[in-house]
Amino acid sequence: MTSVGSVMKQIAALEISAKSNPVPLSSTSIAKPTHSKQPSQTSVAKLLTKFAAPKAFPKSKPTQPSNLRQATGEPSSGLGANRPAIDIGQYDGGLETDNEKRGEVVHGEAAEDLALDSSISREPTREWHLSDFDMGRPLGKGKFGRVYMVRTKSAPKYILALKTLYKSEIVQSRVEKQIRREIEIQQNLRHPNVLRLYGYFHDSKRIFLMLEFAGKGELYKQLSKHGHFSEKRSSRYIDQMADALMYLHGKHVIHRDIKPENLLLGINGELKIGDFGWSVHAPGNRRMTLCGTLDYLPPEMVEGKEHNEKVDYWALGVLTYEFLIGNPPFEDSSSVNNTYRRIAKVDLRFPSTISPEAKDLISKLLQYDPEQRLALSTVLCHPWIVKYRSKNSVGGDT
Ligand code: AMP
Repeated sequence: MTSVGSVMKQIAALEISAKSNPVPLSSTSIAKPTHSKQPSQTSVAKLLTKFAAPKAFPKSKPTQPSNLRQATGEPSSGLGANRPAIDIGQYDGGLETDNEKRGEVVHGEAAEDLALDSSISREPTREWHLSDFDMGRPLGKGKFGRVYMVRTKSAPKYILALKTLYKSEIVQSRVEKQIRREIEIQQNLRHPNVLRLYGYFHDSKRIFLMLEFAGKGELYKQLSKHGHFSEKRSSRYIDQMADALMYLHGKHVIHRDIKPENLLLGINGELKIGDFGWSVHAPGNRRMTLCGTLDYLPPEMVEGKEHNEKVDYWALGVLTYEFLIGNPPFEDSSSVNNTYRRIAKVDLRFPSTISPEAKDLISKLLQYDPEQRLALSTVLCHPWIVKYRSKNSVGGDT
C-alpha cells in the first residue's frame, strides 16, 4: 500500500511543494496524548452565509481550474506527459461492500434536496460520475461514508479525496437541508487554508464530494502524537487560521465549529479548515456529550445568547491554548457543568511554560465580551504571530 510519504515525495518531485528544508519538530514536547476524534456538534456545526462568490468554474470552460491542477498534483506549466505517476494506493472495494449493506434509495422532498450535482449548480462544473475516477487507498471513514484517494481517469489525472455520504443516513440524521447548503457554500470558497471542494455528484443512494487531497492528513493526529506543539508551530497555524477566518467572515461565513478535529494538513504542512459541518465524526471520546463538545464554545453560546462571527475569535483563542498546552483551557473532566461554569467565568489558567506573548494573545481573544476580543486583523500583527512568520514557509510543521 502506498504511504502518504511516498505520495508526498512524488508530489514534491513535481515541484508542487514550495518548501525546501523542513526543520524537524522539537522532540522536547512529547506529552501524554489526550486527543481523539470528536463528533461535531450538530447545532454548532452550521454555517451562516449570504454571500455571492466569483464565478470561478463557468460552464463555458469545461476543463478544471488551474488551482485544481496545483492542488491535485498537476503542474499548470505543461510538464504533463512526462511527469511520474503518483501512486494512489490500493483500493479496498469498500464502496461496493458498503453499497450492499448500507443505505436505501431516498424519495420525495429529501431526494430533491439531496440531488446534488455541481454541473447544474450556481457555479457549474463539468459533469462527474464515479466511473470518472480510479479508486485508490482509503483515507478514512466519516459518519455518513468513506473517503478515498482517487485520480481522474482522463488526462491530466487529478488527485483528489472523494468523500461518500449516504443519503438515507443524512435523512435519518435530519440534516439534508443543512448539508445541501453547506456543500453549496464550500464549493464557492477559495483560500489556501480552506479545503477546496471542486465538485460533487450523486447516484440513487450516495452523494460524492470531490475534495482537495490533504496530503498530511489530520491535525488532531499530530496533536495526539506530540501532546502539544511548539510555540513556533502553534504560531504558524494560528496565523493561517486567522487569515482563513478573515476570509470566511468577509464572505459572511461564520464557522462556529473550530477545533483540531476539523482541521487537515496540506502537502506542505499548511493548515486547511476541512470540515464545514457535513462531516459529523464518529462517536466515542472525551468531547462527546449529548450536545457535543463545550470546550470551544464561547460564553454567549453556552449562555444561549445571540452570537456573531466573534464566536470564531473565541475559538481561535481556545485553539491557540490547546495547541500549546495540549488541552483546551476550560476542560473539566469531572462534569460538563463545570466546563460550562469555567467558560462563563472565563476561568483561564496558564501553566508556567507558556510565553508572555502567547499568553497575551490568548487572553485578548478569550474575552467574555465579544466586542472586546482582538480583531483578526490585529491577531495577524500580534508580536507572537509576527515573530514566527516566515516568508518561505507556508506550513506550520517546521
Ligand atoms: P470525515 O468524514 O471528514 O471525518 O473524513 C473521514 C476521514 O477521512 C478523516 O478523518 C480524514 O482522515 C480523511 N479525510 C477526509 N477528507 C480528507 C481529505 N480531503 N484529504 C485527506 N484525507 C481526508
